[in-house]
Amino acid sequence: MANAVPMAVQAEQFKASPDYVRISMAAAIELGLKPGRIMRNCSCGCINLLQNYPEGCFANCSYCGLARERPGAAEENTFIRVAWPLYATDLVAEKIASKETKGGVGRVCISQVQDSRAYDDLLDMVRRVHRAAPVVPISALVSATTLDEDRLRRIKAEGVDIIGVGLDAASEKVFENTRGKTTRSPHDWRHHWHIVRAARSIFGAYNVNCHVIIGLGESDRELVELFCQLHSGQIAAYLFSFNPELGTEMQHEARAPIERVRRIQLVKHLIETRELSPDAIVFDDMDGVTGLDVPGMTLEGALESGLPFMTDGCPDRAGNLACNRPYGSYRPGEEYRDYPFPPQAADMVVIRDEIRLEDIRTETEAVVV
Ligand code: SF4
Ligand code: SF4
Repeated sequence: MANAVPMAVQAEQFKASPDYVRISMAAAIELGLKPGRIMRNCSCGCINLLQNYPEGCFANCSYCGLARERPGAAEENTFIRVAWPLYATDLVAEKIASKETKGGVGRVCISQVQDSRAYDDLLDMVRRVHRAAPVVPISALVSATTLDEDRLRRIKAEGVDIIGVGLDAASEKVFENTRGKTTRSPHDWRHHWHIVRAARSIFGAYNVNCHVIIGLGESDRELVELFCQLHSGQIAAYLFSFNPELGTEMQHEARAPIERVRRIQLVKHLIETRELSPDAIVFDDMDGVTGLDVPGMTLEGALESGLPFMTDGCPDRAGNLACNRPYGSYRPGEEYRDYPFPPQAADMVVIRDEIRLEDIRTETEAVVV
């Protein structure tokens, strides 16, 4: 029968949170739930979990494989099914506890989707993880639309120490076009910012982060302004790269060119670590970055460190990167958009080739690469 939903798929759809949870493939391998190895034997520092409901998500973001109106969503939500296998939450909690006894888990992250059950279920899932592994740090990647200040306080009281907000869009216009009313989604730019600011005041400096995606139609200037705003508010910005999902509204949209990704990564790093001012960035008529008024040695030092090109995400208990999301912004076999480990010498050759630093004019000193 055409369009019949396979039995196994139907069964999965009814294994809902809080009793069941999806887990990233890298985290499933890390916990021994799936066989395999992550690229270059890199470890996965964060156990990323995702709520599961039969309907996927009631929001309708145009780039997301969980979107409500994604064509064919009911029949074959393949990306999330293959890449994020489903397990009983208590089993995952046990595996986390077991790994805690053998060297520790860097962090656990529970992602909400847009669903009326998502808030209560988040609290329930935090309790289940902490019942098994009482001191493992837990982030909540929240859907701001489900929250208010009281709920944020309750989430903190339950033991979550970091809040991530999927802002995703770098500007109000991009937000509206990709996840606001234009897309028949319930999300609202102002409410998202209200929750970001409330969370910042409740959870403290750098215990709140915004996920930001490059490639949703924003300009470089919008990204720069957002990074500066977040940095000045002591809110972390974690950069993701748009990667078109088959069957989504944006499935035919191109990814940001790698050269642009590398330059934005570098500029973001300089804003966050060297207080780079927007006045030191040269933009063209299209608001693209074309030059940096930065000493060549500063630029070269940042490049040489490899740090700008690593995945950025929540830290572990020692303050080191935990959430390195192998394959988070690219698929196995594709070029790294962000590196889940420090780039090695051969990686740096590739990065230097991609970034074409010689094209970024510096005012104070020539850059030699
Ligand atoms: S709210 Fe999140 S999970 Fe839901 S459609 Fe938007 S991006 Fe996807
Ligand atoms: S950076 Fe990772 S751990 Fe932190 S909120 Fe985002 S997905 Fe969760």
